[in-house]
Amino acid sequence: MDQIPEDWQRGVVIVAHPDDIEYGCAAAVARWTAQGKDVRYVLATSGEAGIDGIAPDECRLLREDEERRSAAVVGVSEVEFLGHPDGRLQADLALRASLAAAIRRHRPEFVATMNFRETWAPGHLNSADHRALGISVLDAVSDAANAWIFPELTEPPWAGVRWVAVNVMVGATHAVDVTETVALAVASLTEHRRYLEALSATDVAEQAANQIEMATAPKDGFPAQRAVAFELYSY
Ligand SMILES: [Zn+2]
Repeated sequence: MDQIPEDWQRGVVIVAHPDDIEYGCAAAVARWTAQGKDVRYVLATSGEAGIDGIAPDECRLLREDEERRSAAVVGVSEVEFLGHPDGRLQADLALRASLAAAIRRHRPEFVATMNFRETWAPGHLNSADHRALGISVLDAVSDAANAWIFPELTEPPWAGVRWVAVNVMVGATHAVDVTETVALAVASLTEHRRYLEALSATDVAEQAANQIEMATAPKDGFPAQRAVAFELYSY
């Protein structure tokens, strides 16, 4: 397993929901911002359908606030919400155009996104939004560079993306050493306090520590105590 390329300056992490980055690759983000890189977050939805008992209009604001706090913990100050409906993402032209526009606004060299496979581990179905989002990001990187596919977009084309790294548990080709940033990743996930409280009776800090333990488990063939793994696509 190879090291993720780090000869880039601006990166964007694109996911479906508040908490997706924190459950996944936030430890890697903390490493990259500590290197002085400019990392930004783009979220397709505001996770407004994510908490049973809290109606979407109230939930949206709460979850956007939790996401901004989580981002700040790992050195990310720019967080954009695209406003697509939580739970109803579709891998269609509208989502691709919206993602292409976001890529053009942020002009990254490096994009990270989430697993879009049918399962995230054998026997565990990946959510419909995750499946739609990840594959659309891979397509939208190409769309962002092409002036003719979505001529209605006002942002000028951006052909500067060199890699898309898809955060995966199974089938990784690359990884990054996050031994130094595990604690920051736990603190970042802990900021999703109301969400985690609703999810389980287990103490929020304990839930966060357990999740990050899984997300940063050592990877076969990669010499690091703690690592985050990706499937890397080159452009
Ligand atoms: Zn999600």
